[in-house]
Amino acid sequence: MNEWLDVVAQVEAMEGLALDVGLVDALQHSAPRAADGADAAINFYTPTFKSFQTSEISGCGRNAWPAVSITGGDCKLKCDHCKAKILEPMIAARSPEALWNVVSGIVADGAGGMLLTGGSNHRNEVEYGPFYPTIRRIKDSYPGFRIAVHTALVDAPGARAMTDAGIDVAMMDVIGSQDTITQVYHLKRTVDDFERTLETLVATGMKVVPHIVIGLHYGRLLGERNALEIIARHRPAAVVLVVVMPFYAPAHRPFVTPDAAEVGRFFMQARAVLGDIPLLLGCARPSGQVKTLIDTYAVMAGMNGMAHPSEGVVELAARLGRKVRVTPACCSIAVGDEVMAGAARDTGLELDLDAIVAHERERRLALSRRDVFGSIKVVGGGGPGAGGCA
Ligand code: SF4
Repeated sequence: MNEWLDVVAQVEAMEGLALDVGLVDALQHSAPRAADGADAAINFYTPTFKSFQTSEISGCGRNAWPAVSITGGDCKLKCDHCKAKILEPMIAARSPEALWNVVSGIVADGAGGMLLTGGSNHRNEVEYGPFYPTIRRIKDSYPGFRIAVHTALVDAPGARAMTDAGIDVAMMDVIGSQDTITQVYHLKRTVDDFERTLETLVATGMKVVPHIVIGLHYGRLLGERNALEIIARHRPAAVVLVVVMPFYAPAHRPFVTPDAAEVGRFFMQARAVLGDIPLLLGCARPSGQVKTLIDTYAVMAGMNGMAHPSEGVVELAARLGRKVRVTPACCSIAVGDEVMAGAARDTGLELDLDAIVAHERERRLALSRRDVFGSIKVVGGGGPGAGGCA
């Protein structure tokens, strides 16, 4: 009998979850060792624990860690899984002056940092060149303001310019399959170009947090294992895994939803291959039952952090003996939270199982009351904002 399945059965919110028994068994026998001890801490970044908010925890609001695009919604690559849609909700700052004005505004609104990104040119480079003096000015004027940059592909002088500008965190997607680079990204670059970029970035003083998008090859896993090995060779500050969200894909090149058990097996490999490098699950992943399965396997695999966990997952982690920390942060894009998780692993409040169970029970009760009254039409009632903070 699998002990961990018994533990899952104790979590009310996970009733009827169709877990892969063989995978749970394998995770149970490998994760605790690989995760550096069964009670290694796990940080959750979730707005649903807002009632635990204290003044020591970063504020909850859409402006806490906004994403800013230097190209607005424009991108020359238009990869098949994204079509530049990821840029659309971001704040546009198409010139250095606009960037200065945007940052001055968000700092006044209480932002602690930003994710700076933009659409790529045909070589998968984001053209930050003209922005570096302004980024330096931002860092000199607001030294506590953290800047995470999505670097895309970069050479040594580019990486040096980022460091000199004062950028704190460098993020990039590592792609381990040439077919994916060619077919999904429409790009004439090589897997080696991605490895060289990672190597170059790690050689700077910036914290480097590479991402792997699981299922990037039209929903199938292809180059992920190779991406893991590339990352393990260069030992970055942390690694973020996300799962492809296929809803931006064009109808003629559809993506399937990645199989949750296959994703879970990849988590197990990632934990083993990356050893003590902090491993985080980013907020991008498909929703519904598949998300709950993915999150469950992530906890079982011994990940160190998770943005926006599914219902019941925080309780599961505590029941499995993990030391649970919760940062009740909501963020429209949530990338900032993930990066900071890599930069400061011991943030958030440590909660025990009783507090978590009581909180989850109260929350479910409140939701069921909302359902009862949900049938009454309320004129002018506002829902969650477009940023998804609920
Ligand atoms: S390069 Fe980035 S923003 Fe542009 S389409 Fe691809 S994933 Fe989206």
